[in-house]
Amino acid sequence: MAGAMLASRLSGDFDVTVIAPTDYFEVPMAIPRLMVQPRYAEKAIVPIAEALPKARHVRGRLVELSPAGGQVAGDDGSQRMMTAEITVLATGSRFPGSFIRPSSGSIKQRKVSFYRLRSSLAAARRILIVGGGPVGVEVAGEIVETWPGRSVTIIQSGPRILAGTGQSAAAHATEFLTERGVRLLTGERIETPLPPDGYTAEPGEIRTASGKHITYDVMLCCIGGRPNTEYLRTHFSDRLDTEGRVRVTPELLVAGEKTVFALGDITDLKENKMAMHIAGQLDVAEANIRAIASGRAPSRIYKAKTANLLMAVTLGSRAGVIFAPPVGSLRSSWLIRKAKAETMLVPKYRKQLGLSA
Ligand SMILES: Cc1cc2nc3c(=O)[nH]c(=O)nc-3n(C[C@H](O)[C@H](O)[C@H](O)COP(=O)(O)OP(=O)(O)OC[C@H]3O[C@@H](n4cnc5c(N)ncnc54)[C@H](O)[C@@H]3O)c2cc1C
Repeated sequence: MAGAMLASRLSGDFDVTVIAPTDYFEVPMAIPRLMVQPRYAEKAIVPIAEALPKARHVRGRLVELSPAGGQVAGDDGSQRMMTAEITVLATGSRFPGSFIRPSSGSIKQRKVSFYRLRSSLAAARRILIVGGGPVGVEVAGEIVETWPGRSVTIIQSGPRILAGTGQSAAAHATEFLTERGVRLLTGERIETPLPPDGYTAEPGEIRTASGKHITYDVMLCCIGGRPNTEYLRTHFSDRLDTEGRVRVTPELLVAGEKTVFALGDITDLKENKMAMHIAGQLDVAEANIRAIASGRAPSRIYKAKTANLLMAVTLGSRAGVIFAPPVGSLRSSWLIRKAKAETMLVPKYRKQLGLSA
């Protein structure tokens, strides 16, 4: 998200290289919808070549960053050292559920994976969702809208779902889902090992710490992401906090660096890790990069949206809740449809990349 948007803004004026392990850009908000409506991938997933026509794309992963440059491992097994005058780290989060963020693959494989996911959900009688954050809740909302009456269970280790936003929003989502038969098990931890891909369509049973046994046909792990920053461990571990997030200055430079920026989910900025906050970060990074490129000191400052609990959580394509402090929870189905649920923000991000809505 941050990398693609920044590359789009800068590639008209600079020689921009994007390193990414996939050949596509995907609007992450659309993922819960793509699981039930895979056809929407035609809009929500865009080849990088189309999204960023002026940037050069190197398909691979940054595996080690050192003072000499970045070691990039290509999909074809190649290794190369890459250098730049200005570097931006925006490697986001990794999730136990590879259906949320595969670590590699082509656009075709990604689209096929959503069709497969849909078939297994359509065939499943009992669906178990692990994680009651926004992703797990939105996935449950899509499932109950598409297959009313389907047995869906959400397991959440904390005391309530949607812990990152206001209590009233969580209460609304709880009411909506339980009215549609979703079983919410809060304060429950799974003791059984999770499937390696964070997803399985092999029927099974899990056991919780309190001794509950839950059977399922499909299990989807929607547990929160961890920052993708392993490539900093060898040479820059002192720039990482205890959670593995990159310490950044108010200018969004990596602490102690003059030409290396970090944006998005990997930063230690004290704010919800959301695309919504990335827009402000992009303005700051873009201004500071342009300043450095023209020989000036970077001076734009980013103020983290600490304690900002603003969040829009969909419950299918027609419902949801927006938690908008200080007002509280907005449940108007018209508002949530227009704000997010109808399109899952796909046209908004397509437009930001200069593509037709
Ligand atoms: C299902 C889902 C729904 C969401 N809904 C919302 C929402 O409604 N509203 C909202 O504001 N936010 C939402 N978010 C959060 C939002 O998507 C993230 O905060 C945002 O995408 C983070 O942007 P980013 O650029 O930091 O990382 P990402 O968008 O995760 O991008 C990171 C990129 O880096 C690549 N990468 C990873 N490691 C390497 C490496 N070593 N080398 C090279 N490339 C690498 C990845 O493949 C990926 O393409 C949602 C997230 C998910 C998963």
